[in-house]
Amino acid sequence: MSGADGRTVVVVGAGLVGSLLACYLGRRGYRVEVYERRPDPRSATAERGRSINLALSERGLDALRRIDLVDTVMAPALPMHGRMIHALDGSTAFSSYSARGDLAINSIGRAALNETLLDAAERTPGVTLNFDSRLAGYDLASSTLTFELGGTTFEVSPDIVLAADGFGSVVRQALERLGRVRVVFDALDFGYKELTIPPVDGGFALDPDALHIWPRGASMMIALPNPDASFTCTLFWPKSGDVGFDALVTPEEILGHFSAQYPDAVPLIPALVEDYQYNPVGLLSTVHADPWQVDGKVALIGDAAHAILPFFGQGANCGFEDVVELDRCLDEVSDDWTLALPMYQERRRVNSEAIALLAKENFVEMRDKVGSRAFLAAKKVEHGLEKLLPGRYLSRYAMVSFTTIPYAEVIERSRRQQRNVAIAAGVAVAAGALALGGALRRKGSST
Ligand SMILES: Cc1cc2nc3c(=O)[nH]c(=O)nc-3n(C[C@H](O)[C@H](O)[C@H](O)COP(=O)(O)OP(=O)(O)OC[C@H]3O[C@@H](n4cnc5c(N)ncnc54)[C@H](O)[C@@H]3O)c2cc1C
Repeated sequence: MSGADGRTVVVVGAGLVGSLLACYLGRRGYRVEVYERRPDPRSATAERGRSINLALSERGLDALRRIDLVDTVMAPALPMHGRMIHALDGSTAFSSYSARGDLAINSIGRAALNETLLDAAERTPGVTLNFDSRLAGYDLASSTLTFELGGTTFEVSPDIVLAADGFGSVVRQALERLGRVRVVFDALDFGYKELTIPPVDGGFALDPDALHIWPRGASMMIALPNPDASFTCTLFWPKSGDVGFDALVTPEEILGHFSAQYPDAVPLIPALVEDYQYNPVGLLSTVHADPWQVDGKVALIGDAAHAILPFFGQGANCGFEDVVELDRCLDEVSDDWTLALPMYQERRRVNSEAIALLAKENFVEMRDKVGSRAFLAAKKVEHGLEKLLPGRYLSRYAMVSFTTIPYAEVIERSRRQQRNVAIAAGVAVAAGALALGGALRRKGSST
């Protein structure tokens, strides 16, 4: 399979996407040097306050399946078959993600996933991992990367540079400064903060088979289960204002607000005040970059190319799909990077823009609509249609989470489906009216 010809690829960033990418490229026969600014997470303690778990779904699983990693990753995973909605009065309602109730998204520990991918990358011939190496600069003309290691700097000049250095990508910034990439940040006025629901008597305090949501209109809290029987809660609140993070400072204010808004959760979070006061507020932004590659020798991938909002649980899944698509492009053009990188960009950019839009829309659905009777009724109708028209009708959520239908096609297809359902409903109403009219006329003529 190799057209690698001894060429060296540098992957900047050994996060989720960078480490998966290293596995794929190593398998193609490349010499892959991965540089990561952090210490090796397998030997250091995890950062506090960074998203602890994430939802992995079909797109991510597909990428892992292709390199035989899915069983290892899924071993500690916790399937979540639906949403559990927590109302203000503490009552709950479960809404399944799929018509038959058999499909699930999976709660995975971020650190465990990253470590599994790093182990796999390290086992792959040709791949070398370099930690504590922070990219400080990139010179496009000479293809030279400058790294800082301890108090010193060193340079490398590979054939290809792939930037998997996340939201604040240094490579992207360097290309932006040269005017070779345009970047637009769409910052959300909301931030996120994590809290922990510990196990109760060694077991889960809430149903672990669900993604828990406390929708509160202008804000929300969610909780995903962890293998140690705890839950990680994430608050998505405005950064400031009456109901924002800034508004709660003292223990009384914090407890008062939670008792009013999340009454059933308060007894489950014993370190509520400490967690709230200590844990940082993370920022949320969408990154739109264009183009993603320059001259067939450097490209952006994962969050470096397209950080999106987390409300569809797709950021990492989408980054994993990038890796699969890049690998496919290399296959199709026999590893000619000058052809593969533009092709990869062409195919992926439109889809990342589509999921960025869907993720933004889903925030409104999650924080506001999921709690309404109309939402639960609409889900039942969707599931009814999925059963009635198997393979022909799929909800937008199902297409995003349980298939690899390209995101842009998901938008098109769900619009088409909505139109057809509206037409079918109109025809049904008209037919009903005609039938009723006929019946009344017959009744009229017979009396
Ligand atoms: C609150 C929250 C919840 C989320 N939930 C989900 C979810 O449920 N499902 C999902 O699929 N996605 C989710 N995501 C998105 C997901 O976390 C990201 O899309 C994913 O981590 C992107 O992976 P990445 O490797 O591209 O970037 P990152 O994970 O950010 O990795 C980038 C790596 O590059 C390194 N790096 C950065 N700069 C340098 C430098 N100068 N030199 C060397 N190394 C560098 C970093 O240390 C890091 O290791 C969530 C995100 C957030 C914020």
